This record gives sequence, C-alpha cells and structure tokens, in this order.
Amino acid sequence: MSIQTVGVIGAGTMGNGIAQACAVVGINVVMVDINEAAVQRGVQTVSASLDRLIKKEKITAADKAAAMVRIKGSVDYADLKVAPLVIEAATENEALKIKILQQLDSMLPASTIVATNTSSISITKLAAATQRADRFIGMHFFNPVPMMALVEIIRGLQTSDATHHAVKALSERLGKSPITVKNAPGFVVNRILVPMINEAFFVLAEGTASAEDIDAGMKLGCNQPIGPLALADMIGLDVCLAVMNVYMDEFNDSKYRPCPLLKEMVAAGWLGRKTGRGVYTYG
Ligand code: NAD
Repeated sequence: MSIQTVGVIGAGTMGNGIAQACAVVGINVVMVDINEAAVQRGVQTVSASLDRLIKKEKITAADKAAAMVRIKGSVDYADLKVAPLVIEAATENEALKIKILQQLDSMLPASTIVATNTSSISITKLAAATQRADRFIGMHFFNPVPMMALVEIIRGLQTSDATHHAVKALSERLGKSPITVKNAPGFVVNRILVPMINEAFFVLAEGTASAEDIDAGMKLGCNQPIGPLALADMIGLDVCLAVMNVYMDEFNDSKYRPCPLLKEMVAAGWLGRKTGRGVYTYG
C-alpha cells in the first residue's frame, strides 16, 4: 500500500510535527483539531519550523511552499476519510482517546489503519476499544518529530502483520529508523530511560555525588548529550514520577519504586524547567 494521504488528529506539539514530517516528503496531510484556533496554531508552527530550515539552508522557499500546500487543516473528522492511515496524536487521556477512536470507527472505511502516538496507554487495550483491532497499532514519535530519527512501532496483541508492514514502510518514507516493540508499559525507550532517571535521584538522595557531578558523570562516561537530572527537569519531575508509578502498578516489582526524593520534590511543586525549579534552578 503506497500511502498518499495521512490523517493526523491533534495539531499540538506532536501532531504538527508529524504533519511536517509527512508533508516534506511529499505526503498529503489532513490535520484535525477541536477548533479553528488550534488548527491554525498547528499550521503556523509548521510554517515557522520550515522557515528555520530555510534559514539553515536545509530546504528552499519553494520546498516550504510545496510542503505547506500539502497540509489541510480541518475541524471535521469527515475530512479524514480520504486517508488510508490516520495517526492519533491528541491529548494523553485514555477516555478521550477511546472516544476519538470510536468516532473514527463510525466514519472511516473498514480498511483504514489507525495508529496512536500515545506515550503510556496500552496499545492492546486501545485496540480492543475499536472495531479494527488488527488494523490498530502504536506509532510513537519523539519530540521534536522533524528532528528525531526514532519511531517506536508498537504491536498490540491483535495487530496484523500487514498493518505492521504498512506503518514500518511509512516510517521509513518519513526518513525515520523505526524499531518494532511488543506492547508493554513504557515500550522500550521510556522503560529504560525513566528508571535510569529515578536511579539518578537515588544516587543524589544518598549523597553519593552532587547533581552536577552525577550529570557530568553520565555525560562524559556514557556519552549522553544531557545528564539524567537535567533531563528530568526538561521532561518534568511530575511526568517522571507518574511513569514510575505506572511501572510499579503494572509490573508490581519493587525495582520500579519511585525515589522518595523525587516524590518529595514533586510534592513541593519543584517540577523542573516548567516551574523554574527542579533539581536545578532556572532564571
Ligand atoms: P499537545 O497538548 O501539544 O497537543 C494535543 C492536541 O490534541 C491539542 O491541540 C488538543 O486541542 C488536541 N485535541 C484534544 N482533543 C481532541 C479531539 N477530540 N480531536 C482532535 N484533537 C484534539 O500534546 P502533545 O505533546 O502533542 O501530545 C500528543 C500525544 O503525543 C499524547 O498522546 C502524548 O503522550 C504523545 N507524545 C508526546 C510527546 C511529547 O514530547 N510531547 C512525545 C511522544 C508522544
């Protein structure tokens, strides 16, 4: 199946990034959000992002113009009917996502593949809420989508081989390097990354080293571009804690015990960059 048009639900951070990634390689996009303002914000974000690429001489003004005409913003789910693949990138909320997926079931052709960009909700569970469980799959892009090479393709228990092949081929057309993952909490990257961040909080809490030295150790010793504590500040300490709590619930294994210091900092409202204070203080 050669996909000419991709539907994207949600014009936020991830939705507009996915739309851009598709449009620059010649794929038409229908990007749907709940109101005209949200759609326009998404389209404007793509326009500004492409302007930055022109400045860096990565693309020409003509490339930008061609990409922009491929993106159709809409508030009407019916406009998604032309797309053989729809990627759901709406707000991370299970009830909302199930509502959206059921709405799609009622209006899309039976053959349409539906993918979700969820970071934390079970693909198998979402698939079971649709009428197209074999044509449902996880497509976990990384932020910022146009820059990040990875897509985790998550197969639910019900996902068919044909669906997997189609989504893998599309990811490659987008210039991404997909990896295939069985549905499990955190998939691969966050499953390894967030417990590592949690461990960095234990090391800090035990007084083994200062925050600066822990981060310097992981940067210089493991070639990480940013230390785990500085990364926690970027992700949000509340998000890190919520993810550890999910692993604790799902695996029921004490190795996922959230660090008490992480819990304490979240309780204090020290959530990282977004609150001006986390492990580090921001000006
Ligand atoms: P966001 O808040 O930037 O955007 C979400 C968009 O969805 C908003 O514009 C909102 O108006 C829209 N929306 C809400 N309900 C809708 C509906 N019924 N129909 C259409 N649109 C609707 O969020 P985001 O960061 O882009 O996250 C989107 C998804 O991507 C989430 O599932 C998130 O877990 C996942 N994700 C996020 C990141 C990240 O770094 N931000 C990385 C990987 C995956």
